Amino acid sequence: MTTMACIFCRIVERSAPAEMVYEDDELIVFKDIQPRAPIHVLLVPREHIATVNDLTVHHIPLMGKLFLVAKTLAAQWGIATPGYRLSVHVGRGGGQLIDHVHMHLLGGWDR
Ligand code: 5GP
Ligand code: ZN
Repeated sequence: MTTMACIFCRIVERSAPAEMVYEDDELIVFKDIQPRAPIHVLLVPREHIATVNDLTVHHIPLMGKLFLVAKTLAAQWGIATPGYRLSVHVGRGGGQLIDHVHMHLLGGWDR
């Protein structure tokens, strides 16, 4: 389920623009609008889940898939070595600005 009040849901629904780099039936990946690394993308489940605090056992395969897609894209982009950063912010205290679960993939500093 998506909500139009959420910018990432609007990107999922294609009613807001984004530079898409990957998509499948469960998640989308697009470039961060304010990149903080040469490569900075966001891995976003299609389902609207506000924060990691809202995850249930139902989401275990989806969260595993985020990591699998992240490492596959990192390999495709030639940054598996030396490495890259995956981060997930949780709540305002954790620096989360967009209340739709997502994982940052940052890297490419050595290219
Ligand atoms: P977080 O919630 O994990 O702290 O950060 C949200 C991230 O989403 C930020 O890095 C911000 O630059 C990015 N962002 C916010 N709004 C948009 C948008 O409309 N489009 C894109 N591509 N990125 C966005
Ligand atoms: Zn959403």
